[in-house]
Amino acid sequence: MAQLTYPQYERQCGWNALLPPRDDVRSLTTDVECDVVIIGAGYTGIAAARRWAEVAPDDEIVIIDSSQLGEGSSGRNSGFLLDVVFASDADSAQLPRLMECNQLIGMAMKDLCDSVHDAAIDCDLERTGTYRAAAGNAGLQALRRYREFLQLADLPYEELDRQALQEKLGTAFYKEGIYSPHCSMVQPAALIRGLAAALPTSIALFEDSPALSLDRTIDGWKIRTPNGSLTSRKAILANNAFSKNLGIGGSRLTVIYTYAGITEVLSDKLLESLGSENQWGILPTHRLGSTFRRTHDGRLLVRSHYGYERESDNAKIGEILLQRLRARFPQLKQIELQSVWSGATGLTFNGAPLWGEAKPGLWISSGCNGGGVIKGTLFGSLLAERANGRDTPDVNALFGAASWMPPEPLRKIGFKIVSGIEKYQGRAEI
Ligand SMILES: Cc1cc2nc3c(=O)[nH]c(=O)nc-3n(C[C@H](O)[C@H](O)[C@H](O)COP(=O)(O)OP(=O)(O)OC[C@H]3O[C@@H](n4cnc5c(N)ncnc54)[C@H](O)[C@@H]3O)c2cc1C
Repeated sequence: MAQLTYPQYERQCGWNALLPPRDDVRSLTTDVECDVVIIGAGYTGIAAARRWAEVAPDDEIVIIDSSQLGEGSSGRNSGFLLDVVFASDADSAQLPRLMECNQLIGMAMKDLCDSVHDAAIDCDLERTGTYRAAAGNAGLQALRRYREFLQLADLPYEELDRQALQEKLGTAFYKEGIYSPHCSMVQPAALIRGLAAALPTSIALFEDSPALSLDRTIDGWKIRTPNGSLTSRKAILANNAFSKNLGIGGSRLTVIYTYAGITEVLSDKLLESLGSENQWGILPTHRLGSTFRRTHDGRLLVRSHYGYERESDNAKIGEILLQRLRARFPQLKQIELQSVWSGATGLTFNGAPLWGEAKPGLWISSGCNGGGVIKGTLFGSLLAERANGRDTPDVNALFGAASWMPPEPLRKIGFKIVSGIEKYQGRAEI
């Protein structure tokens, strides 16, 4: 069976469902020629378009997305904007590189905040910091490595024991935690919608217009969509791991689905039981662990569970998410999830991005998922500069380059074995 060239989700994104419907959605219905086509209107694609318009203001820029703004993973995520890259195996030899990464990440974060401010984007952006908390041995070990990294990098943090975590967050589930101020929270669907709306009007954006194929022409690229085509000198793939299903990055990218659910607005009494802070977020210490967030408007969000290349039945996953939420917050035993949804991410074997010129005139930035909102913003912007001949920091030297993965069926078998072992080791954090 031919692989889908774009994600087709079972359910609407819960964050997007909380926003008013839009009446300005435009899709591609003709054949268009332009200077550059950007495939994907997520953080990477929007940042690339914005920067391209600054660097080459006379170029005709077209962005296409297979879904509508807020319905891609840029709207489906948990809304943690991390402005520090953390390496669990960091030693002092790696510190200068990591500091350089974090300087760039900090600049991307500032750019994003400036955009939100300048365009008055109503997306509940707030600098809250974030907690990382551990319930079992694997989590505690990971927390120790995180602490070591923060010390090495001379970054501020606060340590919390079970009782302090309970006071702050209303859960006695975790043994220990660390608070870092280097994170902001946002309503992600509102953010990506707002960023797209703030693009210069010269940039054309077509939604519900999936790229079905990507072909080389004599002097550029041709992209076919269901009701029109695009011919351009240059093209950018900003559609994360689905780029592989358009023929680019297949040996380095895998689509991994993860899931989120959000409650209704909780009663004042329940909110009182959820600690002393109005808004907070807990990230897992183990990479297969679960994320929790108390939102600005008084809901709880849970993000958990992973699936290989295929979306699972959202109703079944919703039950799993609810169990994980109630295990942490037994006071919510009567509360259901108002919505549950999945989102596609792009896994690379070594966690490094696939970034740079893939073929003449064809540029790619995909596979950035841990902290992908800010990394996508940074990498998209740098890609636009590089594609226009500008000198940029070397993303691959700083953040690494996506490594090779074996083909199917070995890849899937490898994923199942490794994730099975990790799931067992990190079971207390899931
Ligand atoms: C549930 C969940 C929680 C997450 N939580 C966080 C978090 O808290 N913080 C964080 O930093 N990251 C988080 N992430 C990861 C984050 O969402 C991604 O790293 C980020 O969205 C990557 O941005 P992107 O623009 O590169 O890709 P995407 O956001 O995936 O955007 C790619 C776009 O391309 C479109 N597309 C795909 N194929 C085609 C095609 N053939 N033609 C046209 N368009 C196409 C898609 O519709 C999509 O809109 C989470 C992800 C999920 C799923």
